[in-house]
Amino acid sequence: MAYDDTNIFARILRGEIPANTIYEDDYALAFHDINPQAPVHVLVIPKGPYQSMEDFTQSAPADLIAGFFRAVGHVARSLDLAESGYRILANHGPNSHQEVPHLHIHIFGGRPLGPMLVQTETKA
Ligand code: AMP
Repeated sequence: MAYDDTNIFARILRGEIPANTIYEDDYALAFHDINPQAPVHVLVIPKGPYQSMEDFTQSAPADLIAGFFRAVGHVARSLDLAESGYRILANHGPNSHQEVPHLHIHIFGGRPLGPMLVQTETKA
């Protein structure tokens, strides 16, 4: 599927709609999630037309991949989460319930985060 440049994070990157931005560099933009699931819930997005980890890890240039992941680590440290701990998460595709089709890494922290996944019944 082609990248949809009308998605909300593309619009934030273009400055068409506001975000509560906490960090920006040549490779990434980080802002607070509008519907936080933890005391700290920040999203980090790459500056490029990538839907998810799937196309990003196949097609993005090496300097963008490196710069983006360095930004994720920098943002976590800047939020003072390195000692207390944090969780990062990136959804891809239907089973993950990805809502916004622009790659984003969630950073969660600020409290004990519990088990990694909600346990649900699955049919064989
Ligand atoms: P995902 O389900 O991984 O695609 O997550 C999308 C996330 O984007 C959700 O946690 C939403 O709360 C968040 N979100 C949607 N619109 C905005 C927005 N305008 N600003 C900040 N976060 C947003």
